[in-house]
Amino acid sequence: MQALMQDWSLTLDKIFDHAARWHGDREVVTRSVEGPIVRATYAGLHRRAKQVSDGLKEMGIRPGDRVATMGWNSDRHLEVWYGTVGIGAVLHTLNPRLFPEQIVYIANHAEDTVLFADPACAPLLAEILPQCPTIKRVIFLDAEYEAWLEGRPADAAWGGFEESTAAGLCYTSGTTGNPKGVLYGHRSNYLHAMMTLQPDALNLSARDTVLLIVPMYHANAWGVMYSAPMVGAKLVLPGQKLDGASLHELMETEGVTYSAGVPTIWQMLLAHLKETGGKLTSLQRVTVGGAACPESIIRTLRDDYGVDVIQGWGMTETSPLATVSTPSPKVAALPFEQQLPYKLKQGRLICNLDLKLVDDAGNRLPHDGKTFGRLMIKGPTIASGYYGSEHNSAVDDEGFFDTGDVSTLDADGYMQITDRAKDVIKSGGEWISSIDVENIAVGHPKAALCAVLGVVHPKWDERPILLVQLEPGQTAGKQEFLDFLDGKIARWWMPDDVLFVDEIPLGPTGKIDKKLLRTRLTGYELPFDPGLKR
Ligand code: AMP
Repeated sequence: MQALMQDWSLTLDKIFDHAARWHGDREVVTRSVEGPIVRATYAGLHRRAKQVSDGLKEMGIRPGDRVATMGWNSDRHLEVWYGTVGIGAVLHTLNPRLFPEQIVYIANHAEDTVLFADPACAPLLAEILPQCPTIKRVIFLDAEYEAWLEGRPADAAWGGFEESTAAGLCYTSGTTGNPKGVLYGHRSNYLHAMMTLQPDALNLSARDTVLLIVPMYHANAWGVMYSAPMVGAKLVLPGQKLDGASLHELMETEGVTYSAGVPTIWQMLLAHLKETGGKLTSLQRVTVGGAACPESIIRTLRDDYGVDVIQGWGMTETSPLATVSTPSPKVAALPFEQQLPYKLKQGRLICNLDLKLVDDAGNRLPHDGKTFGRLMIKGPTIASGYYGSEHNSAVDDEGFFDTGDVSTLDADGYMQITDRAKDVIKSGGEWISSIDVENIAVGHPKAALCAVLGVVHPKWDERPILLVQLEPGQTAGKQEFLDFLDGKIARWWMPDDVLFVDEIPLGPTGKIDKKLLRTRLTGYELPFDPGLKR
């Protein structure tokens, strides 16, 4: 028997229509690339997004065509986003922080047709555009864009296509081989935004002012460009300036209540606040994800600034949010010190998804909080394959996608990432979690950033070493760090060496670039151990 309910396909244009109609005067505030703060509303942006659609249609952009953007989080970027998906074209975000040859590969692979770019990207584009023959037109998101928009009608038709239609394309720089394109759909992004709005996920509401730090070119900006307008939250877009001082200023002047970003962003903000004695008067809670959240961030934000940190886990292929470390009733009843170990985990699954933990042969492993295994995930917001290689399914026989993460699951459903499969350190047949050691080490007051890598060892196969970037002006000795770790980690997890480096490099999405660190360590040998015959 068929249900007697109306047909209402979940296409993303409906979200912006809703925001314009029912939260029309809610503000979207941008720190423009030109410098000044620009104030707009959902109703105003909706009108301009419709004008973008008109311009795209005039250029001959048809449903399914790829429209690329290369830019920071801004009102204009958002307009292009909605103007593109509204007419059934595919919004392809290019990450300006990638190597030029990677961007060339990605733009050609996606066969981008037109590119909207921040003016700051001009030098980079001058280098790559001659190698991207499918891009027929570039419009810079400055006066050129305004001139292109000026006088256009704002009545382009949106929607009217199936909810399974593709909406967004985001390439993930894989660990091996070329970057791979994750192709989001209207339905998958719509569902993802609704899933993330739940109180036990991002918990956004009309009363929130959201500072969107996660770049729109990284993993769909955690879907916030859909979830914030869904509930009519005020949106604050920081443009290119992501330093501690600029973010702090925006938080205070705009009354930001919620924000999300990778740990390094919070480390920078906290360093700025410590230096200036600044306060966070409106911020209530933040989601930290993209990399494991160090304990020091959770403690400092809570104890010194009254801000609750919730950890989230996901990846480009999972739209991205999948697990969140909000407390279960059992955990919520515990004193803070006992809640902390749960906050350090990546959290529990959002409804609509399923997880399993398997060994290398694909056998399911116990949810005992101890056994490490490959983390596999399934659901309507999870990739089934990659753009351009649809015939190669990316899922196993049961429909689960291999995340490439190694984790544990406990009996209460809390998942904890121990490593990327490629970063796992195997010592004497047992796994050492580089993430755990890093996150404890970075709590040392002199440490700015820490990374733990496995180095080949004649007896144990691999042993961990700790690399430390000290806070500016600090000096420290190896023993100081080993003493700091002593008692906080298992003895056999103790790094065999501590190296002080000028810089721990960050990759294009603000995460520690272990690949580059490994190359920099070429030729490094562990300190001589007289007990070992080499
Ligand atoms: P990306 O697709 O670039 O967003 O990278 C996704 C990967 O980042 C995941 O597969 C994890 O390895 C890592 N990641 C994301 N969130 C977390 C987290 N909260 N803790 C640890 N690792 C994380």
